[in-house]
Amino acid sequence: MARNTEPAGSLPRGIAVSGEEQGELTRRAYAEPAHVYRTPFARDAARVLHARAFRRLAGKTQVFTRLPGDPLNDHFRSRLTHTLEVTQISRTLASALGLNIELAEALALAHDIGHPPFGHAGEKALDQALQVHGLSFDHNLHALRIVTWFEERYPAFRGLNLTLGVREGIIKHSRDYSAAAHPELAEYFLNEFPPLEAQLIDLADEIAYLTADLDDGLNSGILALEQVHAGVPFFRGFHDAALHNLPNAAPRLAVYDALRRMLNAFVSDLLNEVRARVAVLEARTLADIRRAPARLAGFSEEMETIRISTKKFLYDNLYNSRDMEDVHRHAEQVVLDLFAAFMADPNLMPKDHQAQIPSEGLIRTTTDYIAGMTDSYIEQLWARCRA
Ligand code: MG
Repeated sequence: MARNTEPAGSLPRGIAVSGEEQGELTRRAYAEPAHVYRTPFARDAARVLHARAFRRLAGKTQVFTRLPGDPLNDHFRSRLTHTLEVTQISRTLASALGLNIELAEALALAHDIGHPPFGHAGEKALDQALQVHGLSFDHNLHALRIVTWFEERYPAFRGLNLTLGVREGIIKHSRDYSAAAHPELAEYFLNEFPPLEAQLIDLADEIAYLTADLDDGLNSGILALEQVHAGVPFFRGFHDAALHNLPNAAPRLAVYDALRRMLNAFVSDLLNEVRARVAVLEARTLADIRRAPARLAGFSEEMETIRISTKKFLYDNLYNSRDMEDVHRHAEQVVLDLFAAFMADPNLMPKDHQAQIPSEGLIRTTTDYIAGMTDSYIEQLWARCRA
């Protein structure tokens, strides 16, 4: 049923991406008949969810792969559970602002699909291996490659044949690409900002991991509660309030209460700030968002300061902590060793990957293979190659 009135808090209706079958952004590279009762973006969200690359997120590191001392714990986020948390936050944001929820969902589900094993350490190592050949690794561009080429699900074409809007959002949700440096991306409106549905994904990602990584960091024992109190006053405020208001709650539940309120504060601030920026600009249409002087999705100045300092705390005390150094060194070695091994002897790769060498080249094929691996798969291969 068409909405006649916009719910309170919604942005002007023309700002949301149209999900109509004939919309500019619902075009597909290969024409397909419309579905009887599913919209193009809902179909795209389902295509991502059913992709093999999506299932492999379950076996990829978010922050922790193996922890120093390997404590028995299966509650840490994987890239899959992180992705689902980002999806939940993205849906909330899109819904509260009256944006296209199905587009936001498809983009959130796809946002980490191009990540190699071993989290950022794996990404850095893969990039290092490619730099030697004058190339680089970019997980957004790799995600585009997965959905446009690498996934094989249909007899008529390679890739998932996603709509233009989802492909644009996959590459542009977290950064902009210059048209001069990337002529191959010409169809993705490189001189314009992406729609708000895409811009919000990067912030939903930040909100999800800033709170979840404090949780996992505390849970792992790498972060101590006193340390988080000292380093993240924003958390401390909520935690002190929880201890005061819930004096009989188990310590763990007071931490959850604080993290929940922290997440909620980030989301509420973001919603208010986006509404305010849209109002100041008097934006009414998607074109206004695309041609705005800057990206419109962002936190208030005060919350941005909190976001940056929380992130810095996590980098200094968790991601780059002494405890994680060995884990990162190991990840780097595994990726570099295997890259070199496949380059020296392509027969070590499975037949279906070898078959891609003539069209894609050895370097690209090796990158595709390694980037797709889960943490446990790459560990086992590495052990086998060394045996
Ligand atoms: Mg992410």
